[in-house]
Amino acid sequence: MQPPRISNRFRRKAGEKAVAARRDRAKTKELVASGELFFLELFDDDRKSIARMKLIDLLQSVPGVGKIRAEQILERASISPSRRIGGVGPRQIELLRKEFLLMKNSPRAGKLLVVSGPSGVGKSTITNNLRNDDRFWISISVTTRKIRPGEVNGIDYHFVNDDEFNEMIKADEFLEFAEFAGGRYGTPRKAVDKALAAGKNVILEIELNGARQVRKSSKDAIMIFIEPPSWEVLKNRLSNRGTESEFSTQARLDRAKEELSAASEFDHVLVNHEVEQSVSELVSLALR
Ligand code: 5GP
Repeated sequence: MQPPRISNRFRRKAGEKAVAARRDRAKTKELVASGELFFLELFDDDRKSIARMKLIDLLQSVPGVGKIRAEQILERASISPSRRIGGVGPRQIELLRKEFLLMKNSPRAGKLLVVSGPSGVGKSTITNNLRNDDRFWISISVTTRKIRPGEVNGIDYHFVNDDEFNEMIKADEFLEFAEFAGGRYGTPRKAVDKALAAGKNVILEIELNGARQVRKSSKDAIMIFIEPPSWEVLKNRLSNRGTESEFSTQARLDRAKEELSAASEFDHVLVNHEVEQSVSELVSLALR
């Protein structure tokens, strides 16, 4: 039988498409290599050109991963070396994510710092001082609590409703999540992984139950507890904030007692006498 005739016009179009796809793939590899794009994000990319890219080529673009390391990663995750991005299933993506966490000792990966301590102790004032420091990246949590005057959605928190929070739990999008004083709070996992891969020291400013979850799942996280100079100082700070209802202030004070008694579970305890001092202690813990 004669092969079907292909018109010149069709051939030209196919050729142009192939060139565009190659360009897409080359650009994508560059972005991954520079740390601007985290390789796990490509599994959510629905471009055909990306779906057809070989997984091994993508892995080799990740900073700190060469040919041999990429082959070892595929072998440990039982993924064939010829597999393309579009053919990688959710279970294998999860294995690759875990492999990436193991790669954290590569020289470019940042450290994961958990900053915890009772509400009102000054955690966000301390971490806000590092927002413009490019060695650090401060995680933006997702919360169901009401936005306070002066807060900005997407900067202070990602504010969501209960259904949206439940969806994120179902899709396993949280590194940790917990309930606090009537609201729910969670750390989006992908953004944290991406910042670590880009070599940032990532700061999670979270309450005790979330900190305990991170300690379990990320063994090399640096756990830092912030203490107030005294109970009186904490009580005054919380009561004078003026942003919470009486119910929420009381709930926060009750929780504070429980949290303070857990300080010994942490690797380091900083007493927040003075913000500048606390910031520099935090920086030296991160960079040593
Ligand atoms: P606030 O409502 O005052 O902003 O936060 C209340 C408490 O929730 C604080 O102790 C804060 O550190 C903590 N928090 C903020 N984001 C998260 C998060 O993503 N996970 C957990 N577990 N706690 C969080």
